[in-house]
Amino acid sequence: MSAALPIAFSALAMTLIVGGRYLLTSGAFALATRLRRPGLYRGLEAQMRREIGWSLASAAIYGIPAGIVAWGWQAQGWTRIYSGVGDYPLCYLPVSLLAYLLLHDTCFYWTHRLMHRPAWFRLAHAVHHDSRPPTAWAAMSFHPIEAVTGAVVIPALVFVIPVHVAVLGAVLAIMTVMGVGNHMGWEMFPRALVHGPAGRWLITATHHERHHAAYRGNYGLYFRFWDKACGTDLGLGDLAAASRLRASR
Ligand SMILES: [Zn+2]
Ligand SMILES: [Zn+2]
Repeated sequence: MSAALPIAFSALAMTLIVGGRYLLTSGAFALATRLRRPGLYRGLEAQMRREIGWSLASAAIYGIPAGIVAWGWQAQGWTRIYSGVGDYPLCYLPVSLLAYLLLHDTCFYWTHRLMHRPAWFRLAHAVHHDSRPPTAWAAMSFHPIEAVTGAVVIPALVFVIPVHVAVLGAVLAIMTVMGVGNHMGWEMFPRALVHGPAGRWLITATHHERHHAAYRGNYGLYFRFWDKACGTDLGLGDLAAASRLRASR
């Protein structure tokens, strides 16, 4: 049998999984916003519909390479994904998790910086910044060109760095939760974390809000390392001031 049909089926299944995961996660965070910060998204209904449309298109773009690689993993033995916990030393589990997050963050930082060059911004990244201010639905609100740059990173890494299937699941879960949380307009992490020593290195909503407010700087995804190393770290934003601005509109 030709491989085309199983590959297409796998890509479709992955698209449905990525799209469903986005709808469930963003939906849950949007509901939490409605309960915790009533009125925060008032007047943003048309923007949220746009964010959902772009995000579902991105889900299809993310689903295609993920589906091809998932098929290759199962049918052809591609990739370095493993399922026996004892296949590598146990301490490798957290090491591989951190390696995936650091490498994903590195790819994101540099492609995101490139996306802020005027030509790339006009061509692609303006879609993401059309969310003013972003909401929990903006997590995957990317132009298809930008979605491609994000969609290939993890499917490429699984060919290079051995990863337990559960760690890979954790990487995808962290990616989804942080992507949604960083855009929802309020901070889900305790103040002690955001403003404490850990917050000096981790990116949460307070840090990413500044990116959406200032455009230049705060380009990272999970960690502030590259922003600090390259002098693009603008520090933390002021979510309280941003929400007062929303309320006064
Ligand atoms: Zn953003
Ligand atoms: Zn940006």
